[in-house]
Amino acid sequence: SSFAHFGFDDKLMSIVRRQEYTRPTPVQAQGIPCVSSGRDVIGIAKTGSGKTAAFVFPMLIHIMNQPELKPKDGPIGLIIAPTRELCQQIHFECRKFGKVYGLRSVCCFGGGNMHEQQRGLSEGCEIVVATPGRIIDHVKKGNTNLRRVTYLVFDEADRMFEMGFEYQVRSIANHVRPDRQTLLFSATFRKRIERLARDILTDPVRIVQ
Ligand code: AMP
Repeated sequence: SSFAHFGFDDKLMSIVRRQEYTRPTPVQAQGIPCVSSGRDVIGIAKTGSGKTAAFVFPMLIHIMNQPELKPKDGPIGLIIAPTRELCQQIHFECRKFGKVYGLRSVCCFGGGNMHEQQRGLSEGCEIVVATPGRIIDHVKKGNTNLRRVTYLVFDEADRMFEMGFEYQVRSIANHVRPDRQTLLFSATFRKRIERLARDILTDPVRIVQ
């Protein structure tokens, strides 16, 4: 498999080449075509599998396909991850690859400066990467809203559950419009994750690292 088979445009291909990603990882090779076709996906994959690019690349295309971007009216892509470190890593990838399209990402994690994050949100962005509790705080304060989100990712869902974020994860899923595309990544696939998948995904494709 090769990145040339995904139908990416020249902008995305040029930055992928610059990363020296010579060939897609198995998660990318399986995941990118499914996600690009608009399907919901559950990915059983760990850190190091290349899962971030598997959801970031199709997200950029999804966003660029929107008829209208209104970055001050809230993000189109929303990525929820358990920790500050993971959010920052994902945010970094979103910025690196999103900048070829002029897309902006804002990172909101618990423990971080609320005002600084609020400023980023109010300046406008197409992508938000956040921990579950913190994005709910921002929505409650009216700093952003999830009305325009049509691409929703939950990364490391099993870890979010271990950290006690199940209620928040479900609450976010319930607040985002039902005609969204949803991706769920987890290193393990136990009963609780299976139940979550059943509740928040529509006819998902399952991919395994
Ligand atoms: P992740 O599992 O998403 O945290 O990615 C792990 C690391 O692999 C990151 O440093 C990525 O930059 C890198 N990576 C992702 N996709 C590829 C690829 N196709 N070829 C080489 N490295 C990659």
